[in-house]
Amino acid sequence: MQRKYLIALFIIILTSFIIIDTVQVTCPQCEGKGSIKSFSQPTVEIENVIAKYTTTACGYEWWDVTLYIKNNSDKNLTIRAYLTPFDAKANKTYSNIAWNIFIGPKESKTINGTITVPDFYGFQMHSDLKVSARLSYDNLGEEETVCPLCNGSGKVTILNFMKVYLSKR
Ligand SMILES: [Zn+2]
Repeated sequence: MQRKYLIALFIIILTSFIIIDTVQVTCPQCEGKGSIKSFSQPTVEIENVIAKYTTTACGYEWWDVTLYIKNNSDKNLTIRAYLTPFDAKANKTYSNIAWNIFIGPKESKTINGTITVPDFYGFQMHSDLKVSARLSYDNLGEEETVCPLCNGSGKVTILNFMKVYLSKR
């Protein structure tokens, strides 16, 4: 009687192992699509930002701002540059100015523009203005890459499924 139980138990365990190793289920990482979306790394770098005072008019200072950027990728990109003027003397940060920029593959680009800030110090005493820049990639986009868990098949064994399930806890 006891021997029969042991054999039954052994068969159940063996069957379970065969099932979890061979039966395929939908891949939990890509949900069966075989590919996952991944975000590309930012590939445009800011090389320099230069702010140059030009003139004061109507209670505002006019500054020439030049932004030097370089596209390290081999793609056409539309990016947005946020420029933040900061006056160290008055310890004041002005609101962002956004520029939309199109940049070609491996291109180095110089973008020039004018920003205006209030004239705090009166005539002929212009601000000690610094401009910082930050880029955002509106359409850098998601790239489809082959799912690393199922290698693009969209299916995994129950064993692999369990591994993912357990590692998420
Ligand atoms: Zn997958």
